[in-house]
Amino acid sequence: MVDITGKDLCKSYDKYLVFKGVSIELSDGDILAVIGPSGSGKTTLLKIFGLIMKPTSGELYFDDIEVTRIDETRLSDLRRSYIGYSFQEPIFIPSLNVIENILIPYYPYASRSELSRVKENALKILDRLGLSGLDRRRPSDLSTGQRKRVDLARALIKDPKVLIVDEPTANLDEESADIIRDVIREYREMNRIVIFAAHRDEKLFKIASKKLDITKYK
Ligand code: ADP
Ligand code: MG
Repeated sequence: MVDITGKDLCKSYDKYLVFKGVSIELSDGDILAVIGPSGSGKTTLLKIFGLIMKPTSGELYFDDIEVTRIDETRLSDLRRSYIGYSFQEPIFIPSLNVIENILIPYYPYASRSELSRVKENALKILDRLGLSGLDRRRPSDLSTGQRKRVDLARALIKDPKVLIVDEPTANLDEESADIIRDVIREYREMNRIVIFAAHRDEKLFKIASKKLDITKYK
């Protein structure tokens, strides 16, 4: 469905080097664990794979498209069609409830019937993530772990070819963490690519087919 190739990826914030020389190839069914302690550059690398941020140097290919060379319009098309991204610290529109926050990207484009289909699917995903009954809550009235799962639901609703999840099980109780690990396993079985960052979830590391210790790229 898609191959991702990173060649000699480097990222600096001004003069501060976060990592250099990251090269990786990912294809269908690959689960990449990006590991390292807090502050080591995991989120930065995930944002590069998620087409949210460009590397300072190096090349990144989605199939044969070199994404550092394409303009913002093509980049956002690519982001929309390939990537579901769940953030380390999710951001919601505070005046909208959970289900509205999930559906908001669809409002401008979708027909009424499409919207109700997406909504039905969203409710199923919330249920799958152990969040049934919370669809009309404001995000501010949820726990950190619940907010995190709502953000994951927002990524899953796109049925993405590439699922990127930043610290998916941090701050979660064991039961919720198990649900998330199962979702990642399911994605592997569906032959999708999953990229996640984690600093200490051993059970999650075991699901990965590839590991990248970001501390080795300084
Ligand atoms: P991790 O996810 O492993 O905790 P990050 O990728 O968030 O690490 O951060 C890596 C390093 O880059 C940290 O030292 C952080 O302070 C720095 N950093 C992250 N984002 C920025 C930014 N926008 N501007 C400057 N420095 C940043
Ligand atoms: Mg991080």
